[in-house]
Amino acid sequence: MKLLMHTCCAPCSVYCIDSLRDEGIEPTVYWFNPNIHPYTEYKARRDCLKEYTKSINVEAIFEDDYGLDKFCKNVVDSLETRCQDYCYPVRLEQTAKYAKEHGFDTITTTLLVSPYQKHDVIKKLGEVIAKKYGLDFLYRDFRVGFKVGQAKARELGLYIQKYCGCIFSERGRYLGEDFQPPKLPEGFEFLPVNPSINIRKERENKEQYLELLLEADPSEEIVRKYLADGDLFVLTYKDEPVCVSVVTKVDNDTVELKNIATKENYRGKGYGKKMIKYLADNYKPRYKNMIVGTTENNIPFYVKQGFDKYEKTIKNFFIDNYNEELWDGNMQCVDMYYYSKDLIKK
Ligand code: SF4
Repeated sequence: MKLLMHTCCAPCSVYCIDSLRDEGIEPTVYWFNPNIHPYTEYKARRDCLKEYTKSINVEAIFEDDYGLDKFCKNVVDSLETRCQDYCYPVRLEQTAKYAKEHGFDTITTTLLVSPYQKHDVIKKLGEVIAKKYGLDFLYRDFRVGFKVGQAKARELGLYIQKYCGCIFSERGRYLGEDFQPPKLPEGFEFLPVNPSINIRKERENKEQYLELLLEADPSEEIVRKYLADGDLFVLTYKDEPVCVSVVTKVDNDTVELKNIATKENYRGKGYGKKMIKYLADNYKPRYKNMIVGTTENNIPFYVKQGFDKYEKTIKNFFIDNYNEELWDGNMQCVDMYYYSKDLIKK
């Protein structure tokens, strides 16, 4: 089967691609969505899909047609029925046309994942339009995986839209116009969402994480000291601990982030950022500030995470407190720079 999958956005594509790949089917993603307005929103969804498909190595074709005027002219006289009269068919028809011209034998659409769309109408239109072009329509009730896909999209930090797409749906979303999502079939159940990332406070046997903590702070003596009194947090990905962190109390208003370490092959994937966000949320009800002492190299990372107030510098800290020279990349660690994060401010 050579499958062309009309794709409305990255979050909706997540479950569709995953479940098709589980079946051994490799879809080619096809972007054609002149129903997304305004242009900044169109661009945000398109660019996110471009990046996502690249990151998971899936073939993707982008038909770049913003098409605002044509879309509005075609729906404005029948706004009530615009989805089934124009928006679904125009996208499916273009998908089928492209498929036919480029050697695909089957089409489908990620519109089948949304419980907010008119599922049965999309299925029927897909079948009729595919047949017209001599193609097959691959039907799956992707809706079962809607929540799983959305949860994964959030974990991956994909851009998630707030409304269906057209300017009329945007108005409905923000003016709170009545919207009745289509009814799900009797007995329908969403697949359970099992978050693959979890963060927990570890109270027992904290020393089992010593090795990882030493990757961020190589003095065992110093780490043991703050680990004994500090709170240890562990972030797991699919049950594997990949990022750990230690926080200690400074005074009644302030806590200090003493250590945050991510396993080497998980670095640069946002786990540290997630951990800091979790810590800030966790300490916010009881403390006003969180401080961190860092090497010069890491200042930009912490500033980005909200540690944007410079507090002080301890000259020669790394020379006076460590037995060996410490290097961060090609820069020797000498002074310790303290920055703070306001936990109260939004
Ligand atoms: S509400 Fe969604 S499906 Fe309906 S016309 Fe607007 S963008 Fe298309």
